[in-house]
Amino acid sequence: MLESAAALKWYAEQGLDETIGEDAIDRFSLVSAAPVAAAPIAMTPRAGATPQSFRPSTPPPAVRAPVPLESPQLVEDARELARRCNTLAELEAAVRGFEGCALKRTAKNTVFADGTAGAPVMVIGEAPGADEDRLGKPFVGVSGQLMDRMMQSIGLTREGGFYITNILFWRPPGNRTPTLAEQAMCLAFTRRHIELAKPKLLVLAGGVAVKAVLDTAEGITRLRGKWTSVKLDDGSEVPAMPTFHPAYLLRTPASKRQSWSDLLLVDKRLKELGTR
Ligand code: URA
Repeated sequence: MLESAAALKWYAEQGLDETIGEDAIDRFSLVSAAPVAAAPIAMTPRAGATPQSFRPSTPPPAVRAPVPLESPQLVEDARELARRCNTLAELEAAVRGFEGCALKRTAKNTVFADGTAGAPVMVIGEAPGADEDRLGKPFVGVSGQLMDRMMQSIGLTREGGFYITNILFWRPPGNRTPTLAEQAMCLAFTRRHIELAKPKLLVLAGGVAVKAVLDTAEGITRLRGKWTSVKLDDGSEVPAMPTFHPAYLLRTPASKRQSWSDLLLVDKRLKELGTR
């Protein structure tokens, strides 16, 4: 019992907040088999109505609740600082000098980015862990090694193939899930980071990064494997592929085949863009 509670907590922390099965369920047959309690609905089409009118409406996309920021001014400061940076070196210096995020006080290092700036793919994860905090580089622990192997499987390495960062530049104590305020502060820099790195595509790794960058409440299970895009403040728009976090794959190896199919989509898109 305790184990399953811990597993559930861990899934929630990875952003797996929905249960979606592998196989499609014909919910219409379930509904027609169930006893009907409600009054019958007239099925005569209105003049001009299309067959569409009889389809159940698709639920609107989940919207994130407004961020309850305990420090809105600090988020504004971060945005203003980031906006003034015109190169990645300036942005890195601004992040290193930013004192607004409390996570910096408990972290050993600022973890900015690794790989090749200007590479066609930019991977964005959640936050540095203990290894990344110690070494000052993103994705260098076990999940980072898996991330490297996954990217390598489609021919991308940190040397020229991809650039990698996190939405957070400092390790949250005990690897706790970052608060929305911490995410919002760092995200101000991360959005400028994307503008300055100019990747052709983004790979968003894990539920926390996906929700923050796409500003959505939709879960990773629903979003992964489908192209979406991120609109930036400079007017540009970058295609983005949400996928599972490698830490999740280490715990749930059966999901690796889904990640593999996500990466094949990335590979295909890169070929279409003429980058390979
Ligand atoms: N997990 C992440 O999301 N980022 C890292 O840098 C390491 C582990």
